[in-house]
Amino acid sequence: METNKQVRVRFAPSPTGGLHLGGVRTVLYNYLFARQHNGKFILRIEDTDQTRFVEGAEQYIYDCLHWCGLTPDESPLTGGPFAPYRQSERKPIYYNYALQLVKAGYAYYAFDTPEELEAMRERLKAANSHSLQYDHHSRMGMRNSISLSEEETIQLLENGTPFVIRIKIQPNETVICNDLIRGEIHFDTSAVDDKVLLKADGMPTYHLAVVVDDYLMQITHAFRGEEWLPSAPIHILLWQYLFGLDNMVKWAHLPLILKPDGNGKLSKRDGDRLGFPVYAMNWTDPVTGELTKGFKETGFLPEAFNNLLSQLGWNDGTEQEIFSMSELIEKFSLQRVHISGAKFDFEKAKWFNHEWIKSASAKRLLPDITTLLNNNGIDTGNKNLFEIIDLIKDRCTLLTDFIEHTRYFFIPPKTIDVASIAQKWDEKKKTFFESLIPIFEKAEEWNSITIETLFKAHASTHEIKIGELQMILRVFLVGCKAGPGVFHITTILGKEDTINRIISGIKQL
Ligand code: GLU
Repeated sequence: METNKQVRVRFAPSPTGGLHLGGVRTVLYNYLFARQHNGKFILRIEDTDQTRFVEGAEQYIYDCLHWCGLTPDESPLTGGPFAPYRQSERKPIYYNYALQLVKAGYAYYAFDTPEELEAMRERLKAANSHSLQYDHHSRMGMRNSISLSEEETIQLLENGTPFVIRIKIQPNETVICNDLIRGEIHFDTSAVDDKVLLKADGMPTYHLAVVVDDYLMQITHAFRGEEWLPSAPIHILLWQYLFGLDNMVKWAHLPLILKPDGNGKLSKRDGDRLGFPVYAMNWTDPVTGELTKGFKETGFLPEAFNNLLSQLGWNDGTEQEIFSMSELIEKFSLQRVHISGAKFDFEKAKWFNHEWIKSASAKRLLPDITTLLNNNGIDTGNKNLFEIIDLIKDRCTLLTDFIEHTRYFFIPPKTIDVASIAQKWDEKKKTFFESLIPIFEKAEEWNSITIETLFKAHASTHEIKIGELQMILRVFLVGCKAGPGVFHITTILGKEDTINRIISGIKQL
């Protein structure tokens, strides 16, 4: 890599719907690379296809990046030295580049109507042609500035006939992509079609806009998913024709994220089918109202999400799997990004989350858990949520698990699992618990050690096995046999609540 150039990388999504975890991984690798090289990470919105406009999709991308903490240095929101960063606002820029290509003979005007294009495909199909594309085979049979005379072309342009501009691909040439992950990739231009560069509405297509903007925004490296590899020869040719290969971005095509069985690219439908999220955050289709669940709302911590994404296609060569963001920034390297696709395993994803929840401080978790519980109708005001989080976080794999594991601290069980203790319950134990109440009432200190001491002393006076009593106390307090240390629970519940639950428990038996 040249040392004189500041590293500038970009994530260039088309805002057409939910943000797939593969997209976030592209963001992450861009971000890591930029931070590692003291470079800049740019977010460019590629919204030139007006027919694919989706209400709210752009804002949703900002929200996802914000949740992941992968904040761009330059974007439509923050602005920057190369603004605007939204391609629909850059429309006038592209036309001149398209014209430059036409003048140099690398592109041409095409006047074909949709019906004529359809007829071309029918014709090629009927002739059993191996390709149905608009390319060096078919272009001479179409209405364009190569097949028509110069006068005819001028006439059509003067008449205001709608046109597109297409790249003219010369067959039998080899385009070489030097991919930072995959090495040298050779493309035979004979298989590449004459892609539209400028549409009839004057908007560029993605192919033209991506090259022009990567150049104008001084992007040094372009990381994107492997699915864009087939477009690479077009982009490389455009770089060659417009700006020179010496100035071209360095490409890195990231491996696909595969279905759990390894059979093809992981899609939103796989998530729906197998019951796990594929998008970063909940996405509601504004037209159909269909909701697709996200990792955030499923209960993932962004730290865990970034960590698990980092491992889908990269490792540091050791057994280490848990990485903080600063470690990732330090250790990430393109040399260690895999070529083959990475299978997505939801159980493994949950493992990452569990590890992050276990090691997170209660302070870190507090705001998320407070919001989660409040949104689920649990008023956390009357108890020390901080302590509760510390006590139960090891039991939670997803943040949403905190709902079930903390509910009983705030809301006394309406009914207790009588069946689980009925066999152990007898008059002796009833007397034990009834006489425990005044002891608890008189307790001067209320912490797990003093409560345990009082409880055990009382049990030995009554000559009853402590284990059975503890189990019954637990069911009184929690409603069932689950939960952390029972004396920790009594501490958090407080004296009054503990006593009330014991009274209510006795009544139910
Ligand atoms: N606009 C493309 C997308 O939606 C960007 C591909 C690229 O990064 O070149 O993913």
